[in-house]
Amino acid sequence: MSLLAVEQLDARHGQLQAVRDVSFAIEEGEILALIGANGAGKTTLLRAVAGAHRISGGRILFDGRDVSSARANRRVGLGITLVPEGRRLFAGMTVEENLLVGAASERRGRWNVDTVLDAFSMLRPLMKRRAGDLSGGQQQATAIGRSLMSNPRVLLVDELSLGLSPVAVEQVYESLQAVIASGATIVLVEQDLGRALRVATRVACMLEGRIVLEGRATEVTRESVTEAYFGLKRPSRQGGTP
Ligand code: ATP
Repeated sequence: MSLLAVEQLDARHGQLQAVRDVSFAIEEGEILALIGANGAGKTTLLRAVAGAHRISGGRILFDGRDVSSARANRRVGLGITLVPEGRRLFAGMTVEENLLVGAASERRGRWNVDTVLDAFSMLRPLMKRRAGDLSGGQQQATAIGRSLMSNPRVLLVDELSLGLSPVAVEQVYESLQAVIASGATIVLVEQDLGRALRVATRVACMLEGRIVLEGRATEVTRESVTEAYFGLKRPSRQGGTP
């Protein structure tokens, strides 16, 4: 049984259908990179899985359980946690306080302040600093660390690289590798195709609300993903079903 299975999901913003008939599944330990142009529906899809956006059709199964109508905080309690686009830290609170907020779900597991600092060592000297005073990369590290504190079974990371300098992106990814090495299951929205293919085990490309290409990262080609990204060919699936 897949850890997370999304079946024929629809999600709307009023009249606009942002997610159309989307299905995918991931197993424990997989890293799924979700790519697609601006407005393709990636954020809406992640928010729908996290319970932050109401769905209008389909269902979301987590560990075999239908969580489609569960509230966001209930999903965090079950092990689905979102690192939102734009980080959404508590700017007036310290890094340490932001991390501790993430522990509110009281899920037990390997992640605590010490293990988060082991993975994100750049945060070690910043614990007493206000989150609002940090650089973009430091804020992203704090946001991921805060989410890890809830000991998720699946971590949903929206636009990890957005607005960060190349050096900051490199640093955050280096830390994320430590999280991946720990066996984490991650759905990652990433605009940088090369990086997505390097870090992910599976890749799904969205176009106008649909997944138009999906496959193992080792089996999809840069060309096929680029074509799917720009809608240059008919929808296809590669690498078998997840
Ligand atoms: P981006 O990379 O720009 O965040 P995305 O792939 O994450 O893009 P979404 O943000 O999910 O895409 O947007 C999907 C569609 O829904 C777009 O057409 C967008 O304009 C629309 N949309 C997103 N948020 C809202 C909103 N709050 N109200 C109305 N329409 C919205």
